[in-house]
Amino acid sequence: MNQIKVDEILSILRKSYKKKSMLGSIKKKSPFYILISTILSIRNRDENTIKVVKNLFSKYKSIKSLANANIKDLERTIKKSGFYKIKAKRIKEVSRILLEEYNGQVPNTLEELIKLPGVGPKVAACTLVYAFNEEEIPVDIHVEVISKRLGWTEEKTANKIWVDLKNKLHKKYWLYINELFVLHGKEICLTRSPKCNICPISIHCSYYSDTYSLKSK
Ligand code: SF4
Repeated sequence: MNQIKVDEILSILRKSYKKKSMLGSIKKKSPFYILISTILSIRNRDENTIKVVKNLFSKYKSIKSLANANIKDLERTIKKSGFYKIKAKRIKEVSRILLEEYNGQVPNTLEELIKLPGVGPKVAACTLVYAFNEEEIPVDIHVEVISKRLGWTEEKTANKIWVDLKNKLHKKYWLYINELFVLHGKEICLTRSPKCNICPISIHCSYYSDTYSLKSK
């Protein structure tokens, strides 16, 4: 992949978005807060996640209190997050494991993070990037869609895209891809109908050139 082009795309996006994503806005919180927020953000809207996370941590102020939480109370507390029963079970279990096996600390390696229940590559990568500033590429729906549209990958599944992007992109870009693509995906490169006519990176986009060159024929 042409790294100069990547550099240019990321630089344009950086200038275009001054605000932060949901995870970007909590970067200064503890790794545990970020890990739990990421678990709660699965299949949930950011606005909802922010409220649920605040509510959760106002009630449970430590890993220990979450590990010892009454499961029904925990379910009620995070009910608005969707899939709340599974998430409550996982949050309680993750808290217990962190206390018993990691001295109450969130591990900062992919290998250890994905051993935790409910923590797959995306949650692990988000935790590494947003909590530890470790180079990773969390592949969520925005990274998946935009990478394909830009022509950076032809892979179809999130896991394959993750591997493909890590093979193709210089490590110096990894920390920023998720943040910038989430912002761009929410504002302009919408999953269902991208606003290509106002996109600042359209000149670099395969989807744009394919779609608009076809229309002009
Ligand atoms: S030109 Fe369209 S498809 Fe390409 S990145 Fe911009 S909004 Fe997305």
